Amino acid sequence: MAEEESTFQDLPLHARLQRGIEQIGYRVPTPIQRGAIPPAVLGRDIIGTSQTGTGKTAAFLLPILERLLDQPPGRIYALVLTPTRELAVQAERFLRQLAGHTPLRGVAVYGGVGMADQERGLAGRAEIVIATPGRLLDHMQRGHVDFRALKILVLDEADRMLDMGFLPDVRRILSQLPRERQTLLFSATMPPEVVRLSRDFLRDPKLVQVGETTVAAVGVSHLALPVPAQRKAGLLVELLRDAMMTSVLVFTRTKHRADHLGRQLEHAGIPTAVIHGNRSQNQRTAALEGFRSARHRVLVATDIAARGIDVKDVSHVVNFDVPHEPETYVHRVGRTARAQQRGDAYTLVSPEEEEDLRRIERLIGMPIPRSTIPGFDYRARDAPAPRPVGPAPRGGGRPNRYPPRRYGSGGGGGRTPRSPQFRRRR
Ligand code: AMP
Repeated sequence: MAEEESTFQDLPLHARLQRGIEQIGYRVPTPIQRGAIPPAVLGRDIIGTSQTGTGKTAAFLLPILERLLDQPPGRIYALVLTPTRELAVQAERFLRQLAGHTPLRGVAVYGGVGMADQERGLAGRAEIVIATPGRLLDHMQRGHVDFRALKILVLDEADRMLDMGFLPDVRRILSQLPRERQTLLFSATMPPEVVRLSRDFLRDPKLVQVGETTVAAVGVSHLALPVPAQRKAGLLVELLRDAMMTSVLVFTRTKHRADHLGRQLEHAGIPTAVIHGNRSQNQRTAALEGFRSARHRVLVATDIAARGIDVKDVSHVVNFDVPHEPETYVHRVGRTARAQQRGDAYTLVSPEEEEDLRRIERLIGMPIPRSTIPGFDYRARDAPAPRPVGPAPRGGGRPNRYPPRRYGSGGGGGRTPRSPQFRRRR
């Protein structure tokens, strides 16, 4: 029988669940259901990439029910984290139908309504909790939930939870769950922070893709710019002539380098704020405010200082230094390309840092194209002597002075950051 013609009867689901499915009226499983249900029933962790509307709710509810059929009632065995109240309510309703011929029960937990009913549901009247992160944390902090028997966790629409700013709450919840469990993650796209989440919390996941393929940092144009270490500031000033670079987050490896670069950029006439661990909370807040309000076009930060900052509308991330830890790169570039926007990530690479860059390429599973700004590329024979960093002319967006050039190595050697194909598309 061709795969497309397979029915629910072909899936490893108990007769009691098959009856529920029949009553709802489903005959043919959708691709995400065909791909995810068999490994999930066997206990595998799963990353499912599919949009809403592809049947993913049943793709995680059915394996949950199948795996919990024999459990004694009255304890919480499964938790589904979902971004919105509507999704929570909808999934709970759907669960009631699918579980109609089983003793299993669900409770939906979300904000904007009283706590008492939900508290009762959490205290022994449900085996499956479907919750939005903020309200669930409230209940957890009040001691209303016992997750010690938890076996299965689902992260539903993880990219949307990221966009809505829920990932810190999600991580806080996950840190309090039993480690021995199965985790299923569903996300329409895989932005870097969702990739990180899956790396941190899933074990040997099976990837079930429906529709477009996704790579580590979807939506981000990565570009590496070879440059001698001592000329990085000059190159950054050159890059910042591009008027499209409206709000630029620049990462340096040390506090000292952040301060030094901040001074160089200010000297070049570029309004810049700096944050790092030695700054007081007031200084940090002022710097972030200045950046958010566009008073400062550039925010220079160290990794630690940038952690936990949710900066919307970062047009570009610049890695002034290549991070030693490849994961740090994924975390940094996750600051751009939010909410379906595209973002650009430029990495300034000195010869000493090429090896670190290769490790990043291995982690994200794709080569980062090399580009060049004439006069700065250490690989070019005609590189002129360094110029001191001076004020940048105002009013960027001038014509592209740099025609594409090709060099021997690197995937994308011919494109320059200011050539049209690297302009941000908003
Ligand atoms: P979801 O992506 O889970 O939000 O599901 C989208 C819609 O597809 C819902 O209305 C489901 O009831 C419906 N649906 C899910 N699985 C199937 C199926 N195998 N056959 C027909 N409809 C389905």
